[in-house]
Amino acid sequence: MSLTRLSVGEASAHMLADVPALGEETVELRDSLGRVLARDVASPVSLPLWDNASMDGFAVRATDVRGASTDAPVSLRVVETIAAGRRSTRAVGPGEAARIMTGAPLPPGADSVVRVEDTTVTEDVVRIRDDRDAGTNVRAVGEDVRTGTVVVRAGTTLRAAHIGVLSSIGCARPAVHRRPRVAILATGDELVPLEGFDEVLAGRRIVSSNSYSLEAAVRAAGGEPVVVGIAPDDPAALAARLRAADGCDLIVTSGGVSVGDFDYTRTVIAALGGSLSLWRVRMRPGAPLGFGRLFGVPWIGLPGNPVSALVTFELFGRPLLRTLGGAAQPHRRTVPVVLEEDVVLRAPLTHFLRCLLVDGDDGSLRARLTGGQSSGMLTSMSSADALLVVPPEPATVRAGSTLRAIPLDGDLGGSALFPA
Ligand code: AMP
Ligand code: MG
Repeated sequence: MSLTRLSVGEASAHMLADVPALGEETVELRDSLGRVLARDVASPVSLPLWDNASMDGFAVRATDVRGASTDAPVSLRVVETIAAGRRSTRAVGPGEAARIMTGAPLPPGADSVVRVEDTTVTEDVVRIRDDRDAGTNVRAVGEDVRTGTVVVRAGTTLRAAHIGVLSSIGCARPAVHRRPRVAILATGDELVPLEGFDEVLAGRRIVSSNSYSLEAAVRAAGGEPVVVGIAPDDPAALAARLRAADGCDLIVTSGGVSVGDFDYTRTVIAALGGSLSLWRVRMRPGAPLGFGRLFGVPWIGLPGNPVSALVTFELFGRPLLRTLGGAAQPHRRTVPVVLEEDVVLRAPLTHFLRCLLVDGDDGSLRARLTGGQSSGMLTSMSSADALLVVPPEPATVRAGSTLRAIPLDGDLGGSALFPA
């Protein structure tokens, strides 16, 4: 028996239960952008390694410069110049200063750096006209990172700043999770690949746009797409195609999972020894959705309609992929949005409406629907930059109300929470 007609949240929880993260490999740091860290990384060093100047100026003793002003400047003897990458050769004593550049180690005895702008130099004497920098402009040893502390946690998707931090602590080859290999199979007698576009021009076939959009979505989510092609609506041919998915970490099919006369995906999954553990979700678009296991890995059967396929991939396929890939926060973040128009639901299902996020005059984000919401209209998806999440109740949500939306570009760091 499979679970049927679950809510979106229940369906997501079911699919993500017991999904193990894939094994790890090491990669060159410069190739690690977007990869998911497999182990906590602790620093073998403190950063900064030494007390250093955070400004170009003069390293001094705070007690020497307190009280300095335009009317009563303080004069100190300049004993040396310390460039970044050099060390001081002597301490700064009372009445002394060292010219110092940003990042250079502070000489012993000094505890402040007076900015250049507050000084005048003649020969080897510096006149200080302001005491606002007394006790400041020094970056203390270890203030950024202390030896032994974890600087990036396992499960983090590496961004530019993480790569910078990892480089600064000497991590040349981080351990990351393997990228999930995701098999993508389209089903339907009516489908051709781009190479068959003559058939489209002749009015006999349609392009299997899901093959292309899902391949791109898998890649964008950090997976490695394995396109196993298009299967006709024929159980034997479908089974033969599905066998090509053996060895992948996740199997994504589209189409043939509803209640039509030629919807064979579910029976073929069973015939191949797979299982269907969930079918149909209380959502629109995307209700006829299947989930189970095949060849020992998760299988998700997306509906064929191009919008339904992408929306259900976003909500369920992408988090599955991200979880397999070790991401600690596999879901997209949501943001509050103010509706620009009334939304009327024709069924008590969670709706995911294609919308544009526009800036409101009051600083709020406003949601503007991208026209026709039919699940066959792929342009309503391509002209959207977010999915508006509309709960099943109430049936009418008035303009001006606040709902949440899932921005589709960039995951803002991701979230551990399912968005609906
Ligand atoms: P199905 O889920 O197989 O009943 O298909 C529902 C609708 O989606 C039908 O209009 C199909 O022609 C269309 N469709 C199914 N698969 C694809 C695909 N790979 N690319 C584009 N449209 C598709
Ligand atoms: Mg079909």
